[in-house]
Amino acid sequence: MEGAIALNEKYTVVHRQGGQDHSALEMVRLLGQNARYVMAVGTCASFGGPSAARPNPSRSVSVEEAIKRKVIKASGCPANPDWIIGTLGHLLMFGEPELEEHGRPRIFYGETVHRRCTRRSFFERGIFAESLGDPECMLRLGCKGPVSGADCPTRQWNSYVSWPVEANTPCIGCTNPGFPDQMEPFFEPLRPTGLMERWRKNRSGTTGGGDRQ
Ligand code: SF4
Repeated sequence: MEGAIALNEKYTVVHRQGGQDHSALEMVRLLGQNARYVMAVGTCASFGGPSAARPNPSRSVSVEEAIKRKVIKASGCPANPDWIIGTLGHLLMFGEPELEEHGRPRIFYGETVHRRCTRRSFFERGIFAESLGDPECMLRLGCKGPVSGADCPTRQWNSYVSWPVEANTPCIGCTNPGFPDQMEPFFEPLRPTGLMERWRKNRSGTTGGGDRQ
């Protein structure tokens, strides 16, 4: 399933038969209750995403919230094609992949962007970029890599050509639950939110679980 589900059903009439409208909510409930697996593609389907951003007049929610059953998620705005095809392939060939805490395949989302970032050595030495275009760590320019589960630094995008940090823009946390509202402002340093606190705990090793930084 791609896209969030509008609880205000007039926003997403996807089918009309015999003069009667059928909404996305109605169809996804019908199909979802009979499916062996339900997979969400993109951050809107996975967590609500931009469709559910404030003020959310359509009352959009994630697929999981709409149909109240387990959903395997390939989040991202957009989702990397490898994350989608890799998850589908695993479901077809081997069944459900190992999932991380938000219900996404651990193989793609189990580590943060920060963990394998090409600017990580600058971070470790406390050397930070002052302006976009500087080559150092962009934490102080708003990078959300430390709280964003995704393998962008190694997988890369556009046929494995580049990825946001390599293109001199901070990670905006597009794979995260709560994106975009909880990731804004994009170009200001991470605020001391729950995500930030979790990252700090993971760094100090005081939590037993969670994603590796
Ligand atoms: S904060 Fe961002 S730019 Fe800096 S090392 Fe982490 S992911 Fe890379």
